[in-house]
Amino acid sequence: MTMASQSRVRPLTRQQSEQVQAWTALALERMPYMATMLFNLRFVDAPGLGTFAVDGRYRCYIDFDAVASRGPAYCGQALLHECSHLFADHATFAEDMGVDRAMRQVWNVAADAAINDDLRDGGCEMFDNANPYGHVLPSTLGEPDHRTPHHYFRALHTLLDNPDAQVGRGPGDVGTHGQADAVGQGGGWAGCGSGSGGAPAPCELGEGDDLTGAAPPATTAERERVRVAVAVSIREAAAKARGTVPGGLVENADLVLTPAQVPWQQVLGRVLRGAVRARAGTMSESYQRRNRRRHDARVLTSDGRGRRVVLPALMDPVPRVHVVRDTSGSMSEADLSAVTSEIVGIARRLRVRGDDLVIADVDAAVHDTRRYRRPSGLAEVSGRGGTDMRTGIDHALRAQPRPSVIVVMTDGETPWPSQQTSCVPVVAAIVHPSPEHVVAKVPDWIRTVVVPATKE
Ligand SMILES: [Zn+2]
Repeated sequence: MTMASQSRVRPLTRQQSEQVQAWTALALERMPYMATMLFNLRFVDAPGLGTFAVDGRYRCYIDFDAVASRGPAYCGQALLHECSHLFADHATFAEDMGVDRAMRQVWNVAADAAINDDLRDGGCEMFDNANPYGHVLPSTLGEPDHRTPHHYFRALHTLLDNPDAQVGRGPGDVGTHGQADAVGQGGGWAGCGSGSGGAPAPCELGEGDDLTGAAPPATTAERERVRVAVAVSIREAAAKARGTVPGGLVENADLVLTPAQVPWQQVLGRVLRGAVRARAGTMSESYQRRNRRRHDARVLTSDGRGRRVVLPALMDPVPRVHVVRDTSGSMSEADLSAVTSEIVGIARRLRVRGDDLVIADVDAAVHDTRRYRRPSGLAEVSGRGGTDMRTGIDHALRAQPRPSVIVVMTDGETPWPSQQTSCVPVVAAIVHPSPEHVVAKVPDWIRTVVVPATKE
């Protein structure tokens, strides 16, 4: 951090504290359920930053001189924007999914698109299509609303890969510019900070630096407590007045309040990162070639305001998960219901659906293949004959587009392929009352997780 010494942060002055209180009051008029998050932010004056940013420890950096002219309504809504990143836990999400440092700015834009439509739906007019500050909306990327950060991340890759593309109608300069990072139109810093999963703002405090007591880093337990409190408030607000709470926030609230099962984002994140490392040698060459080709590529929107992002991407980190669901006769109803919960768990924790989460019902043959939309789509089970998960794995390997990972959900009473024939990693999720003996039969090249028994 060579910038750190130049952009010193300071505790708030009394006047700045009063400003923040006024902005918070305005923010609460729009989204009262964000109260716990707003009251737990540690505000810091960041002269020279040019904007707002947040880190993963709930420190909110504000360049008061730069943002005050935008007015209190704007500033209140900007606080809600930062809160939305923290509530969705975009930082942990990007980390778990192995979003490369070099791709953090692209991730930041995708995460912005994923929350700004909800903010707009929640009445924050600075995020509507006429917004003068170049905030990224899904429409900016030519994409529909209410998709996952992954979805927009992939859309950005496609856009940036096409030098002739013209994006959307909202302002926002989404282009490729050599190795410059996170540079705004005026040459200042642009981005939301490490709390969004994006690149850290140059002024961010160190993990243990509390600014002499003014900005103590939030602990993991504290952050969890805040997110649960916000999630409960969102659910209550949504129950009281249906339709008034933006759908994406309700979905994230469900995610926060979903009881922990298998930590899929960690398990699959680790497996996917391992697979990428294994392929890195062959990938880097095509990657360099690709970058040369679009060296001068630039994707501009209407007035060219907003931020620009760099795309030195090594690979597509959006996972396509292919689940092989064991529907053989040995799977009990309880087993099948446990498996269904885990598939829903993958959808929620990785925020994947549609083409990115394909489920094949397999006993000794493949019976049915479907794209995940919602839990009810998993109710129908086809198969119930003998068991051979090798059939399902082969089938998944032939799928187009090719999956990034195959998850076999089974009681383990199946033959396994003795060796790996493809670079696509396979995970065995074992649901069994006494998993030890079946887990022992899974070959070493397959990563195994045990699905905890569900209570009826
Ligand atoms: Zn943001």
